[in-house]
Amino acid sequence: MTVSPQRLLLCCLALTLTGCTGPARDAEEAPPTATKPTHGAAGAGDPYYPTQGNGGYDVRGYDVDISYDPHRKHLDGDTTITATATQPLTRFNLDLRGFDVKSVTVNDEQAEFARKHEHELVITPAEPIGKGDDVVTRVRYNGEPTSTDEDEFATVGWLTTSSGGSYALGEPHSASFWYPVNETPRDKATFTLSARVPKDWVAVSIGKQTSRRTKDGWTTYTWEETNPAASYVTTVAIDKFTVERSRLDDGTPVLSAYAPGQEGKRELEARAEEIVEFLSSKFGPYPQRTAGGIYMSDSISFALETQGRPTYASWADLDTVVHEYAHQWHGNSVTIESWSDLCLSECFASYSEWLWAEAKDDTDLDRFYREQVDQLSGDDSFWESKLHEMGAGNEFDGMYGKSKLAMHALRRTIGDDVFDQVLREWPQEHQHGNASWPEFEQFVSERTDVELGEFFDVWFRGDEIPSDEHLYPGTLRP
Ligand SMILES: [Zn+2]
Repeated sequence: MTVSPQRLLLCCLALTLTGCTGPARDAEEAPPTATKPTHGAAGAGDPYYPTQGNGGYDVRGYDVDISYDPHRKHLDGDTTITATATQPLTRFNLDLRGFDVKSVTVNDEQAEFARKHEHELVITPAEPIGKGDDVVTRVRYNGEPTSTDEDEFATVGWLTTSSGGSYALGEPHSASFWYPVNETPRDKATFTLSARVPKDWVAVSIGKQTSRRTKDGWTTYTWEETNPAASYVTTVAIDKFTVERSRLDDGTPVLSAYAPGQEGKRELEARAEEIVEFLSSKFGPYPQRTAGGIYMSDSISFALETQGRPTYASWADLDTVVHEYAHQWHGNSVTIESWSDLCLSECFASYSEWLWAEAKDDTDLDRFYREQVDQLSGDDSFWESKLHEMGAGNEFDGMYGKSKLAMHALRRTIGDDVFDQVLREWPQEHQHGNASWPEFEQFVSERTDVELGEFFDVWFRGDEIPSDEHLYPGTLRP
């Protein structure tokens, strides 16, 4: 995610994980026995957000089928979730916000269901499910999709464009605003979409477009993402897009969609080859199957690294595109285990902007770093933001400013050779998986003789300006 510069502070406050706080509910599960009910937990286990996502199963793939009429703002949905039970289940949950749920089947049999709290869809299959069994759940639903409107700068969910279209966007929540989902980054899955819209509209999603058919005044677009994706990097965007296609030199298909008035963003898109090539030289081969971008005409407060095809607000610039492409390695391919690990995603994406400036604009990063530290040395609120173990609600605070200084200080502490090795090897080690920040610290420590315990503590878990020893390592020494 990148936030708009003028709204950075507000966004940092607003882009918290609201809507999923509160005590754990219904998670006290009986031990699995033949006679007792076995309920999947109502949360996936994130220490900050105990009710986010669900437990008891592992989703392998989503098959989402929607029909959306922009004039009526009405969505008909029919989503099939294919999962494997990780425990015996007599009941389990999905996350879905709003909508009338019409029916639920599990393994082709009608299932009972109930709505609970803000986003729990509680499903009781006709037959108990054994550990390791397939769980194929089909949910039919309809209604007007919603968004959160707690803060005008950080509305997430189903967003409406100025031209009357819509798109689903937001971190950490957006998927549950348009399809039933295990809404946690811990459960990545493949994603296919069939989106039917009136024929003068275009539906764009992640992955490869596999078909387009027009019948009776409606066009159905199908999309397929076969790399596992966290739910917050899935999307659909419906607008009167101009769509252009090309390929990267290695054959990767590029699909770029410009909402009305955004055709000028072609200049940015034309840099895709150069950006992917540059980032590949740092992070190893591009891990996604597609490239491109979705350029919305609205000035929302953030851009988001939707997988293989980021979604941009109207203010997006070259730094934004570099940042969102860097997420394709850091955040999308290597996905956080818990929200406390967000630095694994944002610190890398943010520091990529510096790497780009160094390589392309000859920016002297050491000088730039010292200037930044000079300017910010008295700004306690800047240094207060923690990059790990930041506490629920504070995840994004340090991610677009302090993160860049911390990553540069790390580079100067371990030296360019080890830093380059880490940048290259880390995304390979965890490709298409999940990882935690402590695992990253361990990974770096194993590759250097430098003792890093105190460094990581003061920079990543500290809430004040580091001492000179850690503030000015290596060539940063004034
Ligand atoms: Zn980001």
